[in-house]
Amino acid sequence: MHMRAVRYLGPGLPFSLQSIPRPDPAVGQVRVKLKACGMCHTELHFRDGLLDLGCRDVTMGHEIAGVIDAVGTGVDASRLGERVLVYYYEGCGACEYCRSGDEQLCPAVKAQPGFSSDGGYADYMVVRASNCIPVPDHVPLEEIAPMACAGTTAVHAGKMAAIEPGEWVVIHGTGGVGLALLQYAQVAGGRVIAIDRSGVRLELASALGAEYVIDASRDPDVASQVLRLTGGAHVVFELVGRTATLQASLKMLRRRGRYVLVGYSAELLEVHPIDLIVRELRVMGSVGSTLQDAHDIVDLVSRGAIRSFVDRTIALEDFEQGLHALEQGDARGRIVIQFD
Ligand SMILES: [Zn+2]
Ligand SMILES: [Zn+2]
Repeated sequence: MHMRAVRYLGPGLPFSLQSIPRPDPAVGQVRVKLKACGMCHTELHFRDGLLDLGCRDVTMGHEIAGVIDAVGTGVDASRLGERVLVYYYEGCGACEYCRSGDEQLCPAVKAQPGFSSDGGYADYMVVRASNCIPVPDHVPLEEIAPMACAGTTAVHAGKMAAIEPGEWVVIHGTGGVGLALLQYAQVAGGRVIAIDRSGVRLELASALGAEYVIDASRDPDVASQVLRLTGGAHVVFELVGRTATLQASLKMLRRRGRYVLVGYSAELLEVHPIDLIVRELRVMGSVGSTLQDAHDIVDLVSRGAIRSFVDRTIALEDFEQGLHALEQGDARGRIVIQFD
């Protein structure tokens, strides 16, 4: 039996919609029938060659939600029919990072659906059973799917920043991760300022409770505005990753502020050490998420503490149209591939 899959063939090459054999679950795995898969900027990074893990000919898509339709040996058959969100790291299980639950840092990852192994731009995919997190019936799968990356990344970065109640938190870039982080920061008690170049996204940020929104397309000196409003932010989440935003984010921090890097582009950040030294800034990268973060986001969304925003749903065949919209950066929330 065959199925449809959107394949990454190599850096600089367009993705290819192909018919490939439907996979069967191995020992300890389940097969997930896709219901929804969010589109992430990472896919553009793969296509454009900015991210190259050395893998070729793999199915894209790591914001996966679906229904378990087959179980491998050793997996409880009672999981058949379960609605699930898929956590997209499968570490080696033996290294110091895996042992402490930080599979996203594992240097010998066994599988990473949508990165180094087959992901969710396909009718079916197989994955380790424990990566499948049950989703309550009242949560639509097309809404939870984008949270598999955007939401988990936000939870992980939010935990890294250790936001304290009353702290000023800047969300620099209000795409999928930014909108989730904006809500997470408020759950943690932070006071949020959102910065973006898109008016519609800033309206959404306002509606979600941002105390201030700053439109960088009107006044590019966003650092001065934040400094004026707050005296310096306690935490900045940098989600854009362009030289100008990276520099502005650094400048708007108060002494001992935390600079959390999540987004990136092909551009660089140049910084003189003195800028970090005299303000005792803490610079941290945040990559992906842990399995626990994935459980947490399902819980937060299920309780209504974090809302997922879907700009539009598209058919798998229309993935190019979705990528184009992502590239334009005008989506208000995530673009989600929906399956029958
Ligand atoms: Zn490991
Ligand atoms: Zn992603």
